[in-house]
Amino acid sequence: MATAIVVQKYGGSSVADLQKLRLVAERVVRTQKAGHDVVVVVSAMGDTTDELLGMAKQISAAPDRRELDMLLTAGERISMALLSMAIRELGGNAISFTGSQSGIITNDRHVDARIIEVRPYRVQDELARGKIVVVAGFQGVSYRREVTTLGRGGSDTTAVAMAAALDAEYCEICSDVDGVYSADPRVVPQARRIGTLSYEETQEMAESGAKVLNAQAVEFAKERGIAIYARATSGPLPGADPSADGTVVRKNPPRMPGTVVGVASERDVLVVESDAGAESLLTALDEHHVAGKQLYVPTNTAHAALVVSRENLHDAAGVERAMHARFGDRVTFISGLGAVSAIGAGINATYANVRAGLSVLRRAEIPCSGISTSSFRITWLVPDADVAQASRALHAHFIESGAPRVP
Ligand code: ADP
Ligand code: ASP
Ligand code: MG
Repeated sequence: MATAIVVQKYGGSSVADLQKLRLVAERVVRTQKAGHDVVVVVSAMGDTTDELLGMAKQISAAPDRRELDMLLTAGERISMALLSMAIRELGGNAISFTGSQSGIITNDRHVDARIIEVRPYRVQDELARGKIVVVAGFQGVSYRREVTTLGRGGSDTTAVAMAAALDAEYCEICSDVDGVYSADPRVVPQARRIGTLSYEETQEMAESGAKVLNAQAVEFAKERGIAIYARATSGPLPGADPSADGTVVRKNPPRMPGTVVGVASERDVLVVESDAGAESLLTALDEHHVAGKQLYVPTNTAHAALVVSRENLHDAAGVERAMHARFGDRVTFISGLGAVSAIGAGINATYANVRAGLSVLRRAEIPCSGISTSSFRITWLVPDADVAQASRALHAHFIESGAPRVP
């Protein structure tokens, strides 16, 4: 019988220096010794990606997106080669591959590319030879043979896509935190680890700013039915019950409708308001590769409102200038705002949760400048400086206060 394949992803903080890289190498070798075929997806060391972006910005206020991809992919290339060497030092037999060599094929949307297909033939060949395969995360190659990156946090996506293509037993996302919490534990000290989450809950958490898992990665896992184990790099290998010391994301039976599972936030979002007509506005935003998150367009007026994440928008000032040149005063950009969201299935069955959140914010004297909802999420727009306090207040109400507990 073929050995089960396990895909492990190690984030930037887990490979931030050579000592940490050696610890990762040990964990990888231990996994192989436990009887698995191991594919490791690795991120750039520490803050390398931010540092590379910083250098690009010093050279050019609006760096060319293709050249940005050339630059950023170098980060993961460094860690893959060093990790492969570290594994070999421990007596393991490892080989590293870039995204392109691993067969990660993407569209050609530079800086924020989507994986179209994975052709992992070289990975499979090396696994068959008993090797540990180390793959550079966050990168791929387009059909036009251009090097691309998958958007910030994209190594998670590489790992899940690889797990799906290899029909892996599970995909482990190893980080500095031992799972998905009910809020960012750095912001909300009372946050609790969630043992199991559904794909939909996790996707909404990720899209609302919970960095621990990348939203596109969760979307991929959901499509292919891959179980994701979010775990601490410093923790043990998954045992019989991986939810005991981490978070398992998989198809889950529904919870009691209306239960809030978590609070997530995103700092420094950009709100675009316009009465230029929705179609021309959206066309212009697409031309500038601006991916909107929440859109509100009443069709009987020309007024549209849109919330944009700055994460993969590397030239916000240039986009603003271009939009003003095109639409004049009919478009307004509002900055200085953050988005705080509560997530849970059926959370909007009534308006009770929306209203509760508003009164929590009012009591905390935090002004709310917008609300949007989906069937899994309520988002309140608040001043950027108040995001942490709003997260704590909403978490205290929805999670800590003994409101119906997650079963
Ligand atoms: P990596 O480099 O391993 O990919 P990230 O920085 O992308 O790590 O994600 C891990 C970080 O995500 C944690 O350090 C934590 O502060 C943050 N985080 C935000 N929201 C959550 C949450 N709900 N649960 C756990 N961690 C979260
Ligand atoms: N190194 C990339 C980033 O910082 C990808 C990742 O870490 O997942 O966004
Ligand atoms: Mg990450």
